[in-house]
Amino acid sequence: MSKTDWITQEIEALQNAGLYNHIRTIGSPQGAWLSVDGKRVLNFCSNNYLGLANHPALVAAAKKSIDEMGVGPGAVRSIAGTMTLHVELEKRLAAFKGVEAAITFQSGFTANLATIPALVGKEDVIFSDRLNHASIIDGCRLSGAKIIAYEHNDVKSLEKQIQVNLKDFRRALIVTDGVFSMDGDIAPLPDIYEVAKKYDILLMVDDAHGEGVLGKGGRGIVDHFGLHGKVDVEVGTMSKAFGVMGGIVAGKSVIVEWLRQRGRPFLFSSAMTVPDAAACLTAVDLLEDSTQLVDKLWDNAKYFKAEMKTLGFNTGVTETPITPVMLGEAPLAQQFSRELYEAGVFAMAIGFPTVPQGKARIRVMISAAHARDDLDKGLEAFKNVGKKLGVI
Ligand SMILES: *Cc1c(COP(=O)(O)O)cnc(C)c1O
Repeated sequence: MSKTDWITQEIEALQNAGLYNHIRTIGSPQGAWLSVDGKRVLNFCSNNYLGLANHPALVAAAKKSIDEMGVGPGAVRSIAGTMTLHVELEKRLAAFKGVEAAITFQSGFTANLATIPALVGKEDVIFSDRLNHASIIDGCRLSGAKIIAYEHNDVKSLEKQIQVNLKDFRRALIVTDGVFSMDGDIAPLPDIYEVAKKYDILLMVDDAHGEGVLGKGGRGIVDHFGLHGKVDVEVGTMSKAFGVMGGIVAGKSVIVEWLRQRGRPFLFSSAMTVPDAAACLTAVDLLEDSTQLVDKLWDNAKYFKAEMKTLGFNTGVTETPITPVMLGEAPLAQQFSRELYEAGVFAMAIGFPTVPQGKARIRVMISAAHARDDLDKGLEAFKNVGKKLGVI
């Protein structure tokens, strides 16, 4: 027996359960069509909602910034890594989101790891939606606070947990995903806000899939619901609709100031790179200039979801361009994904632990980069594979 045998056995168990991650490799820029493992396929699974990941304006801005400022930040933000680009980006993001201040991180994941432990500690309690993203869950665990999960998008369950538990703790935080990434449903933020206000609890929303998607011109979930000034902390990412890489926290300036002092990934992990920051700035320019890309995204999503329903697929509870195609058992989802790939469509299967057991699915990500003809090709492939595998 070697001391890594257990890992080999675990990996075999994953393979047998249809839960092993078969990782495909992309050999082309992001866009509606990709080269995946050497084959040209229609891209139905990246988070490149607006097609910005290979947008000429972002590419040009990144190149120019490298010529002027080099590539790396050379340090953490709090020592020598804060460059004019970071400060500019934070100002622009705050204005775009309509908040007092914003701070950037290396990713949405690190933004959550920075924010939650800075706001609550071991004498405190967090009320967390049961289906929150892994980075929220990890941030909650890192904080050492008591974590109380409430039922998904269920404000009654949230309030009940608050009534039972709040008195036992020093401070509290309510945290929810804005758009739930695996189902595409939207948190009932106005109702959650009313509860937060009633009990005077800090409210945080992770808008990773709402940034660049929801609200006017992609200003996010707070704009979507007209809750400006009411949500204390908005976490977001520039790795999805913005097409680049990076995290944001937007909200009250006192919270942003506190994160500059106590956000551990800000203090102990180097800053966003030069080209990333420059490309993100250009993404803000594009979004402020026009709502055209966001409008196209929603037109595409509405069309695709309606056609999938007509074909007889179960697309769950989505309210956004995220389109889950519910299949049930993980091996079926994996087989469906393989057949789609053979038919020229790249859409990955998602199973446990990303989604609950028995709720495996193909998750289609619609983008403004898709032409109507691309969507029709995708629909045709779904129809053929769905019939072949007896799903429709
Ligand atoms: C994708 C995602 C993140 C992580 O964002 P990255 O910038 O990719 O690290 C965080 N939270 C939610 C809800 C997400 O969907």
